[in-house]
Amino acid sequence: MLPCFVDFHCHSTSSDGSLPPRELVQSAHRQGVHWMALTDHDTTAGLSEARAEAEALGMRFTNGIELSATWENGHCHILGYGFDKENPALKEAIACFQVARSGRIQKMVDKLGELGLSMSVEDLKIPPGTSAGRPHLAKAMVEKGFVPTMDEAFEGYLVKGAVAYVDKEIYTPQEVIQLIAQAGGFAVLAHPTSLRLKRESFLECLIEFKGFGLAGVEAYHSSHSRHQCNRLVRQSREAGLWAVGGSDYHGDAKPWVKMGRLKKGRKILSAWISPEFLEQLSTKS
Ligand code: AMP
Ligand code: ZN
Ligand code: FE
Ligand code: FE
Repeated sequence: MLPCFVDFHCHSTSSDGSLPPRELVQSAHRQGVHWMALTDHDTTAGLSEARAEAEALGMRFTNGIELSATWENGHCHILGYGFDKENPALKEAIACFQVARSGRIQKMVDKLGELGLSMSVEDLKIPPGTSAGRPHLAKAMVEKGFVPTMDEAFEGYLVKGAVAYVDKEIYTPQEVIQLIAQAGGFAVLAHPTSLRLKRESFLECLIEFKGFGLAGVEAYHSSHSRHQCNRLVRQSREAGLWAVGGSDYHGDAKPWVKMGRLKKGRKILSAWISPEFLEQLSTKS
C-alpha cells in the first residue's frame, strides 16, 4: 500500500462532534486525508452517511466506534474497527448505552438544578438519535450564561469527581472488547494515558486486555507528546499489540484538535500504523 494520510479517530454530530457525518468526511477530504474511520461515542448512527460520502469522494472508510468501559480512576475508552454494525449483540448493547446516556444527562441536569443552575434537558437541544454527552451539557451551560467557557463548565462541574458528574459506564473493559471482537471487529485501547496507570501496571493491563481480545493501542493521539507516542509504540510492541492512531477530532467542541493531525500539526501517516491493522481492515472495507 502506498503511504498515505490517515485518521482513525473522529467524532460527528452523531455524538459530541460539531460536524454532521457528511460534512466531517468532506472536511477530511479537503485536508487530504485518504483513509478515515468515524468513531462516535457508543453509537454507529453516523456510519452509513459517512461511508456513502467517503465512497463518493473516493476515500477509504472504516466502520468505527468508541465505547466507554467502567474504570475506577480516569477513563477507559475502547475503539472498535471493521465490525459488522448490524451485529445483534452490538446493536443491543448500543441501545443500552443510549438509555444509560440519556438517564445520566437527566441526572446531571438535576444536580446542576440543585446547585441553582436551572435548566431542562430540552435546553440542551440534542437531536433525537444523538449519543448525548457532557459537551452538550457544557455548551448549554455557556449559552445560559452559567459559565464563560465549556472548559470552565467541565473543570467546575462536569469532570469525573466534580459536583455534577454522574457515571454512564455499564460494561467492563472485558465486555466491551469482547463485544467488538464478536461483531467481527478489532478492539483498540483509546488514548491510553487516560487510564492513569504507572508504567508497570500499564503493561500488565495491556497483557490482561490482550487476553480479552484487544488487538491494538492508540499510540498516536492528539493529546500525546511525540515522546509519549514513541513510548506507546514500544509498549504496544512489547505486549504484542498493533500501534494505531487518530486525532480525536471533535470540531468546535475541541477547536485545538485538527483533523488528521497530532500535536504541533504533525500529520498522521499510514506508515506509522501497524501494517497488520491496515491489512486486516483492507479486507473489511
Ligand atoms: P461523555 O462521553 O459524556 O463522558 O463526555 C466525554 C467527552 O467530553 C470527551 O469525548 C471529550 O471529547 C469531551 N471533553 C472532555 N473535556 C472537555 C473540555 N474541557 N472541553 C470540551 N470537551 C471536553
Ligand atoms: Zn467526545
Ligand atoms: Fe475518548
Ligand atoms: Fe474520542
